[in-house]
Amino acid sequence: MRNTQQEVMQFIKEQDVRFARLVFCDIFGQIKNISISASELERAFSSGISFDASSVKGFLSVEESDLLLFPDPATLSILPWRPAQGRVVRFFCSIKRPDGTLFEGDTRSLLQETVRKASLQGYSFGVGPECEFYLFKTDEEGKPTYQPLDDGTYLDVAPLDKGENVRREICLTLEQMGFYTERSHHESGPGQNEIDFKYGTPIEAADNFITFKSVVKTISDRSGLFASFLPKPMQRESGSGLHFNLSIKAEGEQYSKIEAAMSAGILNRIQEISLFLNPLANSFERLGSFEAPKYVGWGRANRSLLIRIPYTSGEYRRIEVRSADPACNPYLAITLLLTAALEGIRGDLPLEEEYQGSAYQKQTGRMLPSSLEEAMELAKHSDFVQSILPERLLTCFLEAKGAEWRSYEKAVDPFEASRKAYFL
Ligand code: GLU
Ligand code: MG
Ligand code: MG
Repeated sequence: MRNTQQEVMQFIKEQDVRFARLVFCDIFGQIKNISISASELERAFSSGISFDASSVKGFLSVEESDLLLFPDPATLSILPWRPAQGRVVRFFCSIKRPDGTLFEGDTRSLLQETVRKASLQGYSFGVGPECEFYLFKTDEEGKPTYQPLDDGTYLDVAPLDKGENVRREICLTLEQMGFYTERSHHESGPGQNEIDFKYGTPIEAADNFITFKSVVKTISDRSGLFASFLPKPMQRESGSGLHFNLSIKAEGEQYSKIEAAMSAGILNRIQEISLFLNPLANSFERLGSFEAPKYVGWGRANRSLLIRIPYTSGEYRRIEVRSADPACNPYLAITLLLTAALEGIRGDLPLEEEYQGSAYQKQTGRMLPSSLEEAMELAKHSDFVQSILPERLLTCFLEAKGAEWRSYEKAVDPFEASRKAYFL
């Protein structure tokens, strides 16, 4: 649905909508919302709805706590799992200061700005995320356990696959929200699943990812399960990645040339932006095994590499970036990836040779950071990152990650500490 403000007000009246959820996410990608009464919506569009930003991690300090949410009418969607009488809808919002200026911690607006700049240069991107996650059993109190739902492996069917009903309900619920998924299946790990999105604009893809996580969690919870988006929830099993398929439209340019330059741009900047694609100590437990990349290189069918350029044609031509994981803030991750891609295109960067063989055997060459600490150091000293992210956002992000790293470093069992802190 892509509605104007007027159409939204009409819909609210006709569909017996009683509440509107105003959704945003913090700088770490955590979804947040305020519910307002439908009668407040008109006011929300014109003057915004305030909230206490000092209570949102990474936003503001107590002395300057008020920020305002302005719903984006184009993002209207009903929440199908809420009552059909007295419906609930949701909107993604932009975040402003009381003086009307845009808040620099609003990562959705940052991505919108990136997309706008790209289109001024004649480029528009398509983004198709593929997201993996685990389903775990819960205990008698409904608390998550580390026991996976089943012992299934890649593409297994029932009864080995016990996730088929949950996946079906997730996909149907998303469809009711106007969000189409393309495929879903059991993944390699026990209780591990994957659902792939139909590609959309960068903003749609990021919004959909936020919606996706909350729908997967809600539907799983209703089935007595715990859905985890932790990058590496089980030490000896496959991790969960968030692959980004990126495509580009550019008038009059030869596609294979632009695809190469775009990949070169991303390969060039991947190390310094990894902190935002792999933001947890746990993220680095995933990289380097079970088809998650570690070495910076590209291939056509090779799943041990950072970028895969599959043999596809027409509408489906794309490059697949394989390092990100579902703990990232998708607005930041996509902003940084697209800017790196554009830099490659503008500078006409040459693409290195395709890598042959399994990169897991590779002992030398450029690698992704191996720890949260290394990723932080690279981001901190990156002019590229500093030129894209507002200073305050970057400082808050680095401070929070520094604190996380210090507590992880002290742990007796680092893997356990890394999954416990963010069993999300
Ligand atoms: N689970 C792997 C990862 O962590 C990816 C497997 C696949 O290619 O789908 O990225
Ligand atoms: Mg997969
Ligand atoms: Mg993939």
